[in-house]
Amino acid sequence: MKSFKELSLPAPLARAIEELKFDVPTPIQASAIPIALEGKDLIGCAQTGTGKTAAFSIPLIAKIIASPDSRALILCPTRELATQVADVLRALTKHLPNIRGVVLIGGASMKPQMRGLSQNPSIIVATPGRLTDHLERKSLNLSKVNTIVLDEADRMFDMGFAPQVEHIFKFVPAKRQILLFSATLANTVKKLSDRYMHSPEHISVGEVNRPALKIKQSHISISGPDKNEKLLEVVKARSGAILIFSRTKIRTDRLSKFLKTNSVKAVAIHGGRTQGQRERALEDFRTGAYNILVATDVASRGLDIPSIELVVNFDLPATREDYIHRIGRTARAGANGEAISFVTPEEMRDWKIISGEKPESGGGGGHSHQKSGGGRKNNFRPRRGGFQRSSYSPAPRSERSSGRREARR
Ligand code: ADP
Ligand code: MG
Repeated sequence: MKSFKELSLPAPLARAIEELKFDVPTPIQASAIPIALEGKDLIGCAQTGTGKTAAFSIPLIAKIIASPDSRALILCPTRELATQVADVLRALTKHLPNIRGVVLIGGASMKPQMRGLSQNPSIIVATPGRLTDHLERKSLNLSKVNTIVLDEADRMFDMGFAPQVEHIFKFVPAKRQILLFSATLANTVKKLSDRYMHSPEHISVGEVNRPALKIKQSHISISGPDKNEKLLEVVKARSGAILIFSRTKIRTDRLSKFLKTNSVKAVAIHGGRTQGQRERALEDFRTGAYNILVATDVASRGLDIPSIELVVNFDLPATREDYIHRIGRTARAGANGEAISFVTPEEMRDWKIISGEKPESGGGGGHSHQKSGGGRKNNFRPRRGGFQRSSYSPAPRSERSSGRREARR
C-alpha cells in the first residue's frame, strides 16, 4: 500500500486523514493497516515516532463504521499516552459524530468516566489500572468488545500490568481481534501473544533494537557532582526544545529548580506530580512556552512531542530498551535529532551495553515503575456528540496553535 487512497476507506475517515496531512502512510501503517482491516491478529514492532497510533486507529475506526455495534478497547501504559491516543482518535473521527469514545485513566475522578460509559461509547481508551477499577465496580461491560489494542505493550508489561491485562481479557469475548504494538519484542510480549492471540501476523519495521539512524548520539564522561554545570553549558548552547531525563522524581524536581535559578526556563514531569501539573507541563513544552522538559521515564515512551532537538540523559537509563525509547523522542517523523548521555566512571561498563557497543547479556529489571493511579479530576464531556474530550487534555491538534508543530508541517 503506497497511499491511503488505495484502501478505499469510508469518506469521512479518508477526509480526516487528509486533513491531518498524512499524505503517505508510514512503513508500519503501510504494512499493518491492510492486515488489520482483514480482521487478523497483528503484532507490530516499530521504533517510536513511526506512526503506530494511526496504524491501529484507522482500521479500528473503519471496523466500527462497517459494523456500528463493534466495540474497541485500547490499553495504554500511561495516562499521558492514553490522552494522546484519544487526541488522534478524536481527530480521525472528526467527521463521524456517531463514534463516541471515553478515556479511563487514573488520577481522575470516576464520575465523569461513569457518565461517559453510560453513553455506550464505541471506543474505550484506558490504562489497565483504571480499567480494572471500573471492572470491579461493574461500571463497565466489555461483552461487545471485538477489538483490543495493546499499545506500547512492552512498556505496559515493564510497568507490571501483565496480570491486569490478562484479567481484562477474561471480560472480553473469545472472538476478538487483538492488535499489539510495541517498540521491542520483549519476552513478556511474546508470552502474552502466544497465550491470547490467534496466529498473529508479525510486522517489524526497521531494526527494532536499533535507534533511528538520524539521531546523532554521543556521551560525555563526567563525575556526578559536575553534571549540573555541564548540563547548563549544553543547554545554553542551544535554542531548540530539549528533553532531559533524570532517574528519580526528586532529582527531576531538583534539576528543574537548578535550571530555573540559572535563568533557564524548564518544566518537570514525573509520576509524583498531580495530573494537572503534568498536563500543564507537557502543554507548556508542546507549545514552546518552555523549551526544556525534565522528565523521569514516565515521559519516555509514546509521548508525541514534536521536534525535540536534543535528548539529554542526565542520568543513564536502566536498560538499552529504555535508552532507545528515550532517544526516540528526538528525530521523530524523519527529522534530525541529537542525544547526549552523561556517563560517570562507575557507569562506563553499563554504558557500553546501553549504547549498544556491547551486546546485552540478558536480564532486564531495574526499571523505575511509575504507577498509573491516584485520584484527581478527570472530566469528560461529549463534544458535538463525537469522541469525548477529557477536560484536561490539550485542545485537538487542529485547534492547537503550536508554532513548533506548524513549523514541522
Ligand atoms: P509511535 O506511536 O509509533 O511512537 P505516533 O503514532 O505517535 O508514533 O506518530 C508520531 C508522529 O508522526 C505524530 O506526530 C504523527 O502525527 C505523525 N504521523 C503519523 N502518521 C503519519 C503519516 N502517515 N504522515 C505524516 N505524519 C504522520
Ligand atoms: Mg505510540
